[in-house]
Amino acid sequence: MPYSYDDQNIFAKILRGEIPNKTVLETAHTLAFEDIQPQAPVHVLVIPKGPYVCYDHFAQEASEAEIVDFTRAVGEVCRLTGVQPGEGGEGFRAIANTGAHGVQEVPHFHLHILGGRVLGRMVGRAQG
Ligand code: AMP
Repeated sequence: MPYSYDDQNIFAKILRGEIPNKTVLETAHTLAFEDIQPQAPVHVLVIPKGPYVCYDHFAQEASEAEIVDFTRAVGEVCRLTGVQPGEGGEGFRAIANTGAHGVQEVPHFHLHILGGRVLGRMVGRAQG
């Protein structure tokens, strides 16, 4: 797959400890931290530690251990932040902006976990 990972992206710098972050959870293959410009009362970014550009890159090339670890970490972040509907929370949205049409800014795969307020429609209609 023709993905080229830029190791100077800001999340790579966070993973190397060059930039601070507010860690929510760290596991063997995954880091979750608070978004620096939160769009909701809960806004956590979950990222793999491996060099994956975007979700499809991760889904196709990460090891099973990385994928399981990441997925379990997402569940744990939802538990830690109290957004799980099954546990009395009010729900959340998971977003993986990808590429140009997805308006991805940071080229290291990250899943946004947003919650703590009603989040509105999934996709705006303004630009068709
Ligand atoms: P995206 O448009 O999906 O690539 O989103 C990138 C996200 O990274 C945005 O929500 C930013 O607020 C967030 N972000 C950028 N720099 C940092 C940082 N140093 N620490 C935490 N979040 C960041």
